[in-house]
Amino acid sequence: MTTFAIGGATVTRVEEVLEQGFIPSFLFPGFDPAILDEHPQLKQPNFFHAESGKVISSIHGWLVRLAGKTILIDTCSGNGKARALPLLKRFHMLDLPFLDNLAAEGVRPEDVDLVICTHLHVDHVGWNTRAEDGRWIPTFPNARYIFGRAEFDHWTRGDGPRLFPENVAVIEDSVLPVAEAGVVDFVEPGDIILPGLTVEAAPGHTSTQLAVKYESAGGAFICTADVLHQPIQIYDPELNSCFCEEPAAARATRRRVLDYCADSGALLLPMHFGPPHAGYVRREGMGYRFEPAGATLS
Ligand SMILES: [Zn+2]
Repeated sequence: MTTFAIGGATVTRVEEVLEQGFIPSFLFPGFDPAILDEHPQLKQPNFFHAESGKVISSIHGWLVRLAGKTILIDTCSGNGKARALPLLKRFHMLDLPFLDNLAAEGVRPEDVDLVICTHLHVDHVGWNTRAEDGRWIPTFPNARYIFGRAEFDHWTRGDGPRLFPENVAVIEDSVLPVAEAGVVDFVEPGDIILPGLTVEAAPGHTSTQLAVKYESAGGAFICTADVLHQPIQIYDPELNSCFCEEPAAARATRRRVLDYCADSGALLLPMHFGPPHAGYVRREGMGYRFEPAGATLS
Protein backbone atom coordinates (compact mmCIF):
# COMPACT_ATOMS: atom_id res chain seq x y z
CA MET A 1 0.00 0.00 0.00
CA THR A 2 1.03 3.56 -0.64
CA THR A 3 0.31 6.10 2.08
CA PHE A 4 1.21 9.77 2.18
CA ALA A 5 0.92 12.13 5.14
CA ILE A 6 0.05 15.67 4.08
CA GLY A 7 -0.81 18.27 6.68
CA GLY A 8 -3.57 16.84 8.82
CA ALA A 9 -4.52 14.22 6.26
CA THR A 10 -3.26 10.82 5.28
CA VAL A 11 -3.93 9.45 1.82
CA THR A 12 -3.72 5.77 0.94
CA ARG A 13 -4.09 4.13 -2.44
CA VAL A 14 -6.59 1.27 -2.45
CA GLU A 15 -5.96 -0.92 -5.45
CA GLU A 16 -8.57 -2.56 -7.60
CA VAL A 17 -6.20 -3.68 -10.34
CA LEU A 18 -2.76 -2.95 -11.76
CA GLU A 19 -2.40 -4.28 -15.29
CA GLN A 20 -1.46 -3.60 -18.88
CA GLY A 21 -3.82 -1.00 -20.26
CA PHE A 22 -4.24 0.34 -23.77
CA ILE A 23 -1.59 0.85 -26.39
CA PRO A 24 -0.77 4.56 -26.28
CA SER A 25 -1.66 5.20 -29.92
CA PHE A 26 -5.23 4.12 -29.10
CA LEU A 27 -5.49 5.87 -25.76
CA PHE A 28 -3.92 9.09 -27.01
CA PRO A 29 -4.91 10.07 -30.57
CA GLY A 30 -1.92 11.78 -32.19
CA PHE A 31 0.56 9.98 -29.91
CA ASP A 32 4.15 10.12 -31.19
CA PRO A 33 6.29 7.25 -29.83
CA ALA A 34 9.37 9.49 -30.01
CA ILE A 35 8.31 10.92 -26.64
CA LEU A 36 9.28 7.60 -25.02
CA ASP A 37 12.83 7.94 -26.31
CA GLU A 38 13.04 11.60 -25.36
CA HIS A 39 12.00 10.80 -21.79
CA PRO A 40 13.26 7.29 -20.94
CA GLN A 41 11.56 7.47 -17.55
CA LEU A 42 8.30 6.88 -19.41
CA LYS A 43 9.59 3.50 -20.63
CA GLN A 44 10.30 2.17 -17.15
CA PRO A 45 8.36 -1.04 -16.48
CA ASN A 46 6.16 0.62 -13.85
CA PHE A 47 4.74 2.86 -16.58
CA PHE A 48 5.16 0.91 -19.84
CA HIS A 49 5.14 -2.76 -20.78
CA ALA A 50 7.75 -3.06 -23.51
CA GLU A 51 6.78 -6.48 -24.90
CA SER A 52 3.14 -5.61 -25.45
CA GLY A 53 3.68 -1.92 -26.14
CA LYS A 54 0.91 -1.09 -23.66
CA VAL A 55 0.91 1.46 -20.87
CA ILE A 56 0.68 0.21 -17.29
CA SER A 57 -2.69 1.14 -15.94
CA SER A 58 -3.78 1.23 -12.34
CA ILE A 59 -7.35 1.49 -11.18
CA HIS A 60 -7.57 2.56 -7.56
CA GLY A 61 -9.37 4.75 -5.10
CA TRP A 62 -7.71 7.24 -2.78
CA LEU A 63 -8.59 6.75 0.87
CA VAL A 64 -8.33 10.03 2.76
CA ARG A 65 -8.39 10.24 6.52
CA LEU A 66 -9.02 13.78 7.67
CA ALA A 67 -10.64 15.36 10.72
CA GLY A 68 -11.73 11.98 12.04
CA LYS A 69 -13.52 11.15 8.79
CA THR A 70 -12.84 8.28 6.40
CA ILE A 71 -13.27 9.40 2.81
CA LEU A 72 -12.99 7.35 -0.36
CA ILE A 73 -12.34 9.24 -3.59
CA ASP A 74 -13.59 7.24 -6.57
CA THR A 75 -14.73 3.64 -6.33
CA CYS A 76 -13.15 1.88 -9.32
CA SER A 77 -15.08 -0.60 -11.46
CA GLY A 78 -16.89 -2.90 -9.04
CA ASN A 79 -17.60 -6.62 -9.04
CA GLY A 80 -20.24 -8.58 -10.91
CA LYS A 81 -21.27 -5.80 -13.27
CA ALA A 82 -22.31 -6.65 -16.81
CA ARG A 83 -20.11 -4.65 -19.19
CA ALA A 84 -20.46 -6.71 -22.34
CA LEU A 85 -20.10 -3.90 -24.90
CA PRO A 86 -16.70 -4.12 -26.62
CA LEU A 87 -15.24 -0.89 -25.29
CA LEU A 88 -15.95 -1.89 -21.67
CA LYS A 89 -15.16 -5.61 -21.83
CA ARG A 90 -12.18 -5.05 -19.57
CA PHE A 91 -14.69 -4.31 -16.77
CA HIS A 92 -17.12 -7.17 -17.42
CA MET A 93 -18.20 -9.31 -14.45
CA LEU A 94 -15.08 -8.58 -12.42
CA ASP A 95 -14.25 -10.47 -9.25
CA LEU A 96 -11.46 -8.41 -7.70
CA PRO A 97 -10.47 -7.99 -4.04
CA PHE A 98 -11.04 -4.25 -3.74
CA LEU A 99 -12.94 -4.54 -0.44
CA ASP A 100 -10.27 -6.89 0.89
CA ASN A 101 -7.66 -4.29 0.01
CA LEU A 102 -9.72 -1.69 1.84
CA ALA A 103 -9.99 -4.06 4.83
CA ALA A 104 -6.21 -4.44 4.82
CA GLU A 105 -6.14 -0.71 5.61
CA GLY A 106 -8.42 -1.31 8.58
CA VAL A 107 -11.50 0.05 6.84
CA ARG A 108 -14.75 -1.89 6.61
CA PRO A 109 -17.50 -0.67 4.27
CA GLU A 110 -19.48 0.62 7.24
CA ASP A 111 -16.52 2.74 8.34
CA VAL A 112 -16.57 4.94 5.23
CA ASP A 113 -18.14 8.33 5.99
CA LEU A 114 -17.90 9.97 2.58
CA VAL A 115 -17.58 8.70 -0.97
CA ILE A 116 -16.60 11.34 -3.50
CA CYS A 117 -16.94 10.57 -7.21
CA THR A 118 -14.88 12.86 -9.41
CA HIS A 119 -16.92 11.86 -12.44
CA LEU A 120 -19.36 9.11 -13.29
CA HIS A 121 -17.38 6.90 -15.67
CA VAL A 122 -17.28 3.11 -15.44
CA ASP A 123 -13.94 2.91 -13.59
CA HIS A 124 -14.80 5.57 -10.98
CA VAL A 125 -18.20 4.56 -9.59
CA GLY A 126 -18.36 0.76 -9.68
CA TRP A 127 -18.04 0.03 -5.97
CA ASN A 128 -20.71 2.61 -5.18
CA THR A 129 -23.02 -0.39 -5.22
CA ARG A 130 -22.96 -4.12 -4.68
CA ALA A 131 -25.49 -6.81 -5.49
CA GLU A 132 -27.86 -8.06 -2.80
CA ASP A 133 -30.94 -10.17 -3.49
CA GLY A 134 -30.88 -9.26 -7.14
CA ARG A 135 -30.66 -5.52 -6.72
CA TRP A 136 -27.93 -2.93 -6.37
CA ILE A 137 -27.53 -1.39 -2.92
CA PRO A 138 -24.97 1.09 -1.54
CA THR A 139 -21.72 -0.73 -0.71
CA PHE A 140 -20.90 1.75 2.05
CA PRO A 141 -24.02 1.72 4.23
CA ASN A 142 -23.14 4.67 6.46
CA ALA A 143 -21.62 6.91 3.80
CA ARG A 144 -22.90 10.03 2.16
CA TYR A 145 -22.05 9.95 -1.53
CA ILE A 146 -20.87 13.21 -3.05
CA PHE A 147 -21.52 13.79 -6.75
CA GLY A 148 -21.14 16.95 -8.76
CA ARG A 149 -24.61 18.26 -9.46
CA ALA A 150 -23.66 19.12 -13.03
CA GLU A 151 -21.97 15.73 -13.60
CA PHE A 152 -25.09 13.90 -12.38
CA ASP A 153 -27.28 16.03 -14.63
CA HIS A 154 -24.86 15.43 -17.51
CA TRP A 155 -25.56 11.69 -17.30
CA THR A 156 -29.22 11.76 -16.38
CA ARG A 157 -30.56 14.55 -18.57
CA GLY A 158 -27.59 15.91 -20.53
CA ASP A 159 -25.18 14.86 -23.29
CA GLY A 160 -23.33 12.10 -21.44
CA PRO A 161 -25.32 9.13 -22.79
CA ARG A 162 -25.07 10.42 -26.36
CA LEU A 163 -21.31 10.97 -26.10
CA PHE A 164 -20.54 7.67 -24.32
CA PRO A 165 -23.47 5.23 -24.73
CA GLU A 166 -21.51 2.38 -23.14
CA ASN A 167 -21.60 4.25 -19.83
CA VAL A 168 -25.41 4.23 -19.58
CA ALA A 169 -25.46 0.81 -17.89
CA VAL A 170 -22.96 2.16 -15.38
CA ILE A 171 -25.27 5.00 -14.43
CA GLU A 172 -28.12 2.53 -14.04
CA ASP A 173 -26.36 0.05 -11.73
CA SER A 174 -23.79 2.22 -9.91
CA VAL A 175 -25.17 5.77 -9.76
CA LEU A 176 -28.96 5.80 -9.78
CA PRO A 177 -29.32 3.20 -6.98
CA VAL A 178 -27.43 5.39 -4.51
CA ALA A 179 -29.39 8.46 -5.59
CA GLU A 180 -32.64 6.54 -5.13
CA ALA A 181 -31.44 5.39 -1.68
CA GLY A 182 -31.32 9.05 -0.68
CA VAL A 183 -27.65 9.04 0.30
CA VAL A 184 -26.27 11.47 -2.29
CA ASP A 185 -25.23 15.05 -1.58
CA PHE A 186 -24.79 17.11 -4.71
CA VAL A 187 -22.00 19.66 -4.81
CA GLU A 188 -20.84 22.55 -6.97
CA PRO A 189 -17.28 23.54 -7.84
CA GLY A 190 -15.81 25.48 -4.94
CA ASP A 191 -17.81 23.69 -2.28
CA ILE A 192 -15.97 22.83 0.93
CA ILE A 193 -16.30 19.16 1.89
CA LEU A 194 -14.27 19.42 5.11
CA PRO A 195 -11.91 22.13 6.31
CA GLY A 196 -9.17 22.30 3.67
CA LEU A 197 -10.87 19.79 1.38
CA THR A 198 -12.70 21.23 -1.62
CA VAL A 199 -13.98 20.20 -5.01
CA GLU A 200 -13.17 22.24 -8.08
CA ALA A 201 -14.14 22.16 -11.73
CA ALA A 202 -11.84 20.07 -13.94
CA PRO A 203 -13.76 20.08 -17.23
CA GLY A 204 -12.79 18.31 -20.41
CA HIS A 205 -12.55 14.56 -19.81
CA THR A 206 -16.21 14.92 -18.96
CA SER A 207 -17.48 18.44 -19.34
CA THR A 208 -18.48 18.48 -15.67
CA GLN A 209 -15.66 16.54 -14.01
CA LEU A 210 -14.43 17.56 -10.55
CA ALA A 211 -10.98 17.47 -8.95
CA VAL A 212 -10.57 17.15 -5.18
CA LYS A 213 -8.08 19.47 -3.53
CA TYR A 214 -6.68 19.56 -0.01
CA GLU A 215 -4.70 22.58 1.16
CA SER A 216 -3.22 23.11 4.62
CA ALA A 217 -0.28 24.79 6.28
CA GLY A 218 1.42 21.39 6.24
CA GLY A 219 1.01 20.68 2.55
CA ALA A 220 -1.44 20.09 -0.27
CA PHE A 221 -2.64 17.41 -2.63
CA ILE A 222 -4.89 17.33 -5.63
CA CYS A 223 -6.75 14.24 -6.76
CA THR A 224 -6.97 14.92 -10.46
CA ALA A 225 -9.63 12.48 -11.62
CA ASP A 226 -8.89 11.80 -15.30
CA VAL A 227 -7.25 15.12 -16.12
CA LEU A 228 -4.21 12.88 -16.62
CA HIS A 229 -4.26 9.17 -17.45
CA GLN A 230 -0.53 8.59 -17.79
CA PRO A 231 2.76 10.35 -17.00
CA ILE A 232 3.19 10.80 -20.77
CA GLN A 233 0.71 13.66 -20.56
CA ILE A 234 2.92 15.59 -18.13
CA TYR A 235 5.58 15.66 -20.83
CA ASP A 236 3.04 16.40 -23.59
CA PRO A 237 0.03 18.14 -21.99
CA GLU A 238 -1.61 18.47 -25.40
CA LEU A 239 -2.31 14.72 -25.47
CA ASN A 240 -5.93 13.99 -24.64
CA SER A 241 -7.29 10.53 -24.07
CA CYS A 242 -9.71 9.18 -26.65
CA PHE A 243 -12.36 9.33 -23.92
CA CYS A 244 -12.12 13.09 -23.37
CA GLU A 245 -15.39 14.80 -24.25
CA GLU A 246 -14.14 18.33 -24.80
CA PRO A 247 -10.57 18.38 -26.18
CA ALA A 248 -9.84 22.08 -25.78
CA ALA A 249 -11.22 22.19 -22.23
CA ALA A 250 -9.33 19.02 -21.30
CA ARG A 251 -6.03 20.57 -22.46
CA ALA A 252 -6.70 23.83 -20.62
CA THR A 253 -7.59 22.00 -17.41
CA ARG A 254 -4.48 19.81 -17.70
CA ARG A 255 -2.21 22.84 -18.02
CA ARG A 256 -3.94 24.58 -15.12
CA VAL A 257 -3.50 21.51 -12.89
CA LEU A 258 0.13 21.04 -13.90
CA ASP A 259 0.83 24.73 -13.23
CA TYR A 260 -0.90 24.45 -9.85
CA CYS A 261 1.17 21.41 -8.86
CA ALA A 262 4.43 22.94 -10.09
CA ASP A 263 3.79 26.28 -8.36
CA SER A 264 2.40 24.96 -5.08
CA GLY A 265 4.34 21.74 -4.64
CA ALA A 266 1.05 19.90 -4.15
CA LEU A 267 1.18 16.13 -4.42
CA LEU A 268 -0.45 14.94 -7.64
CA LEU A 269 -2.82 12.03 -7.03
CA PRO A 270 -3.98 10.67 -10.38
CA MET A 271 -6.28 7.69 -10.77
CA HIS A 272 -4.41 5.57 -13.32
CA PHE A 273 -0.63 6.04 -13.04
CA GLY A 274 1.56 3.01 -12.42
CA PRO A 275 3.73 2.74 -9.28
CA PRO A 276 4.30 4.75 -7.16
CA HIS A 277 0.95 6.13 -8.42
CA ALA A 278 1.56 9.69 -7.23
CA GLY A 279 4.21 12.35 -7.48
CA TYR A 280 5.25 15.92 -8.03
CA VAL A 281 5.26 18.11 -11.10
CA ARG A 282 8.41 20.13 -11.72
CA ARG A 283 9.05 22.72 -14.38
CA GLU A 284 11.63 21.83 -17.00
CA GLY A 285 12.41 24.20 -19.84
CA MET A 286 9.10 25.29 -21.34
CA GLY A 287 7.39 22.20 -20.00
CA TYR A 288 7.13 19.87 -17.03
CA ARG A 289 8.63 16.71 -15.69
CA PHE A 290 7.25 14.10 -13.32
CA GLU A 291 8.97 13.29 -10.07
CA PRO A 292 7.44 10.09 -8.66
CA ALA A 293 6.68 10.31 -4.95
CA GLY A 294 9.24 8.67 -2.74
CA ALA A 295 8.88 7.99 0.94
CA THR A 296 5.78 6.19 2.14
CA LEU A 297 4.53 5.43 5.59
CA SER A 298 3.60 1.81 5.04
ZN1 LIG B 1 -10.70 6.65 -15.39
